[in-house]
Amino acid sequence: MAGELRYDDQVVVVTGAGGGLGKAYATFFGSRGAKVVVNDLGGSFKGEGNSTKAADVVVNEIKAAGGQAVANYDSVENGDRIIDTAVKAFGRVDVLINNAGILRDVSFKNMTDQDWDLLMKVHVKGAYKCTRAAWPHFRKQKYGRVINTASAAGLFGNFGQANYSAAKLAMVGFTETLAKEGAKYNIICNVIAPIAASRMTETIMPPDMLENLKPEWVVPLVAVLVHKNNTSENGGIFEAGGGHVAKLRWERSSGLLLKADDSYTPGAILKKWDKVTDFSNPQYPTGPNDFMSLLEESMKMGPNEQ
Ligand code: NAD
Repeated sequence: MAGELRYDDQVVVVTGAGGGLGKAYATFFGSRGAKVVVNDLGGSFKGEGNSTKAADVVVNEIKAAGGQAVANYDSVENGDRIIDTAVKAFGRVDVLINNAGILRDVSFKNMTDQDWDLLMKVHVKGAYKCTRAAWPHFRKQKYGRVINTASAAGLFGNFGQANYSAAKLAMVGFTETLAKEGAKYNIICNVIAPIAASRMTETIMPPDMLENLKPEWVVPLVAVLVHKNNTSENGGIFEAGGGHVAKLRWERSSGLLLKADDSYTPGAILKKWDKVTDFSNPQYPTGPNDFMSLLEESMKMGPNEQ
């Protein structure tokens, strides 16, 4: 079934599509009938320099295989120009894959403002600018599909990646809110934490592991999530790589509920700490309102044990 998914006449924008995962997405959609905007700044994985070559090579590859594609060389920080390229070349935009990214790995002790700011600019502001520019088109046509790119480092933390982790977890909150705002306009947004061999990972993973992590193996999940038939998976967090696909969700412990009055002290919490960390009867919250019923319950309780 997935082998038959097509994207004929849809316009797909892939940021950072000059290599790695972005190239794999772009060539896939180009081979399945989509008109592709191949965006890439053409810099180093640390975010230095720029070149038109990375995007041009991928555009030429898609065209040589009989597909349609156009290059864009702007930084994702100028997302409006990338979306303009799509509209000027193909008249619309249907799918946006926010994939561009860089690394500035350094222990937190040695992290500079520049290491922090650059990561926020490319990952967070970049995804914001591209999506913000596409959003009015999506709303007007009552159709849009967005993939944001998080990372295991963002979800779980990773040594030397405080800047990258913060930027990548931002993609989760961003996606969860866009999913809620976009739903009634048939704008579906999901976020993925991929794992794949690329210039980003080739220096930190052993060669035998890299061989089993082709970027092409992240593509099928993205293909499913951005397809027009996906009208139900919205706001999801997924992991994909090496043939594995899984969904993640938030889990809340059954928790400790106390009366919120003068008897709500550090001692009152400590006395029942095991309840705070008890995951034997978990909840799976999906929005801030899930919390409100607890508040009402707490208001009805008697004073707390000290
Ligand atoms: P990559 O370095 O091969 O690809 C990233 C691309 O983004 C590059 O071609 C680069 O030129 C481009 N880019 C960088 N800054 C840009 C900017 N400002 N504007 C436009 N393009 C820009 O790395 P990759 O592994 O393919 O990574 C793709 C995405 O997946 C990134 O967001 C990365 O953080 C994320 N990711 C990758 C892995 C992995 O295992 N490879 C794991 C978790 C997350």
